[in-house]
Amino acid sequence: MRMSVIGCGYLGAVHAAAMASIGHDVVGIDVDEGKVAALAAGTAPFFEPRLTELLTDGLASGRLRFSSRMADAAGADVHFLAVGTPQTAGGHAADLRYVDAAVEDLLPHLRPGDVVAGKSTVPVGTAARLAERLVGTGAALVWNPEFLREGWAVHDTLTPDRLVVGAAPDADGDRAVDVLREAYAAAIETGTPFLVTDLATAELVKGAANAFLATKISFINAMAEIAEAAGADVTLLADALGHDGRIGRRYLGSGIGFGGGCLPKDIRAFAARAEELGRGEAVGFLREVDAINLRRRDRAVQLVVDALGGLVFGRRIAVLGAAFKPFSDDIRDSPALDVAVRLRGLGADVVVTDPAAIDNARTAHPQLGYAQERDDALREADAVVIVTEWDEYRRDLSPAHAGGLVRGRIIIDGRNCLDAAAWRAAGWQYHGMGRR
Ligand code: NAD
Repeated sequence: MRMSVIGCGYLGAVHAAAMASIGHDVVGIDVDEGKVAALAAGTAPFFEPRLTELLTDGLASGRLRFSSRMADAAGADVHFLAVGTPQTAGGHAADLRYVDAAVEDLLPHLRPGDVVAGKSTVPVGTAARLAERLVGTGAALVWNPEFLREGWAVHDTLTPDRLVVGAAPDADGDRAVDVLREAYAAAIETGTPFLVTDLATAELVKGAANAFLATKISFINAMAEIAEAAGADVTLLADALGHDGRIGRRYLGSGIGFGGGCLPKDIRAFAARAEELGRGEAVGFLREVDAINLRRRDRAVQLVVDALGGLVFGRRIAVLGAAFKPFSDDIRDSPALDVAVRLRGLGADVVVTDPAAIDNARTAHPQLGYAQERDDALREADAVVIVTEWDEYRRDLSPAHAGGLVRGRIIIDGRNCLDAAAWRAAGWQYHGMGRR
């Protein structure tokens, strides 16, 4: 099948490469010429496991190419929209200008029978509005929200938990759904559920999934606040809750909370859209979810300050992690960097390290100190903060080894990812989030 993928960021580049890897003929389109040049040369413009391998294979097979000209999308049977939908400057709603521009640019290249499949995360009602723009072209619009996790994007694209396709309830909609069914035949054959809905429900599934996941994380972080006040341990609490099959242990990791280019802006946009629909009160709890999440960053900073006896000015603090999560170089709304920036703001001599995100972090926050190697960050540190749970810190860093490098054996575990007993036994003052 011939496909175009419009927008080649974290979502689109992976989608294009994954679709080519299962035999489709794909062109990725992006307005960013630097990104297009990198992708066309087989270089992933961001860190994502397995992406380089897929790009190399796809380009070599001739089934994958990249272009900055929308005209090169012409002739594709399905056009996936994967452009960004960031938070509007100064507001909470989603900024739809990139989606609108992409659709306008695509219109002259559509043929009757083409399918435009929206993958970007958009406020409910967007798809119906865009479908109006397609009237007269003979092309049909479906909404096919994306649920991939950065760090697992290739895996999640090739073997998703489910595929959701929203379409208009008419013959064109039915035919467009069949085109998507063919596009995803490889996953469907291995048992991936393929759920067909109307346009609004498909858009809402994505918003609701993000709202639920964010709520689950903030729920356990709210319990961490209570555990702190009561002298309990939130990690043991989460283990005990997780054994309840109705609750489950996943997404009950307490710590400095969620970040990244999706969850924070998506729950805000979801609440903003609910307000527009006159149902703001139905998701008023999302404001609380957001507030709990942001409070954990304050708490992590406070733990460092307290552990250093209130004196952080001029103290050297090793910050392990910059990416918003491991296996990614994405620093968009990263809680890790937020903590680093705040500590720097208090006058600390902050040295950040990260296996993948240093370059992005340095560009965004040149005022911070950086060390390429973990051990260089640890050397002579008065305190250590783990803010991204990379294996290099969580699994591979022994308290004895770290103890030989630092000046002060103080560790703040912002992700509750370390064995507290082992660190204490090695003479460290260990502080977790919501742990005794
Ligand atoms: P991104 O910022 O990494 O990529 C967006 C890309 O779109 C950029 O490369 C940009 O240059 C390009 N673009 C903008 N306007 C364009 C236009 N008119 N024509 C062609 N290209 C254009 O963003 P992302 O993280 O890939 O997210 C894209 C969408 O997918 C968002 O709606 C996001 O919420 C959603 N999403 C992202 C993820 C994720 O994990 N990153 C997961 C699920 C859904």
